[in-house]
Parts: sequence; C-alpha cells; structure tokens
Amino acid sequence: MNFDSFKFEASLQEGLDAMGFDKPTPVQEKAIPIILEGKDIIACAQTGTGKTAAFILPVLNKIAKSGGNTLNTLVLAPTRELAIQIDQQIQGFAYFLGISSIPIYGGGDGLVWEQQKRALEEGAEIVVATPGRLIALLAGGKIKLDSLQHLILDEADRMLDMGFSDDLLTIVNYLPKDRQTILFSATMPPKIRSFSKKLLKDPEEVTL
Ligand code: AMP
Repeated sequence: MNFDSFKFEASLQEGLDAMGFDKPTPVQEKAIPIILEGKDIIACAQTGTGKTAAFILPVLNKIAKSGGNTLNTLVLAPTRELAIQIDQQIQGFAYFLGISSIPIYGGGDGLVWEQQKRALEEGAEIVVATPGRLIALLAGGKIKLDSLQHLILDEADRMLDMGFSDDLLTIVNYLPKDRQTILFSATMPPKIRSFSKKLLKDPEEVTL
C-alpha cells in the first residue's frame, strides 16, 4: 500500500511527496484510517516507527478539509526536545496547507517565553506543548482551548512516569468534552489503561 490509498487532500499529499514519504509504516497503516474516521484511539508504538506522522497526518487532513483558522489541535509531549521535534515535523507536512503550529515548552529564558506568547497572539491551528508550561498559560488566560477538536498525547507512558498525571487531568478540564482523543505510548502498562479510561471514549486499540 502507499499513501495514495488514504486519499489525503492534494496539498497534504504534496507535502508528503516533498518529504520523500512513499509507503506508510505499519503503525501508520493501522492508525491513520481510525483517526480519519474521527474515533478515539490508543496506540502502542515506539520512537522510530513513524508514530508522529501516524497521528499528525490524519489530523492535518481533517483540519485542511474543515478550513482551520482556530486553535483546534493540542499535542502534549513529555519533554521540550520532543515538543520541538513534533512541531518541526508538523511544519514540514503543513508547508503547502497554510496550517500553522506553535511549540510551547518550559525551561527557556524570558525571551523564549515572550516569543511563545507572541506566536500565540498571532494564532495557529496546532499547539505542541509540555504539560507544565501549558498549565501556566491556561491559568493566566493566555491560551484558549474552547474550540479544541483533537487532543493528542504522545509518549503517554513517559508523561505518567515523569509525574504529569495530575497536570494532564487539569489540562483536560479546560477542553471541550466533545473532541477526538488520540493516545500514543511506547508501552501499555495497566496504569496507562486506567488513565486512558479517564480521557478516551470507547477507543480503538492499535498494537504492532
Ligand atoms: P518517529 O517514529 O515519528 O519518531 O519517526 C521516525 C522517522 O521516520 C522520522 O524521521 C520520520 O520523518 C520518518 N518517517 C516516518 N514515517 C515515514 C514514512 N512512511 N516514510 C519515510 N520516512 C518516514
């Protein structure tokens, strides 16, 4: 199978071609159709399997179809490095789509903080954030997530191991209940399963 089978919007397919993506990886083959259908999903996939494209391509396609223009997608990641990496992949795919993404992470100096706030004021459809910094913005009223349609948790096992469980539940309280939730995790211990029950509705499961 190749990416044509998903019948992505032409400008997304152009982005894939430009990045040299030809055939979907196994996790992409399984997860993309489920996400395109709008279902919640819990997927077990390690780094290097193409997991980032597996969750972001179908979401970009949905945003491209519906027109975008409001902040509708939140990606949560455990570390600054991962948030930056995900944001860069999104910007690569979205190049021809006119969809923008902003990385929001802690640990930088005041300049980084100001740049992030300014970027938010300018607007974007997608925010890729680490939990702590996002909570600071939410509490300060600097970011509004009322029109969110897609919540993605990447490396969920690592976020729980790092003690972000309460932060994640706090963030979810700011989100509309009527949304699609996508959870990716490298491992699937019982605590991930019980945690996912709090956030996901009737999810489809993908394992490799
Ligand atoms: P990830 O598992 O998301 O960290 O992705 C690992 C690497 O594989 C990244 O550099 C991606 O750009 C690349 N990649 C993901 N999916 C594909 C694909 N279908 N074809 C070619 N490269 C890919």
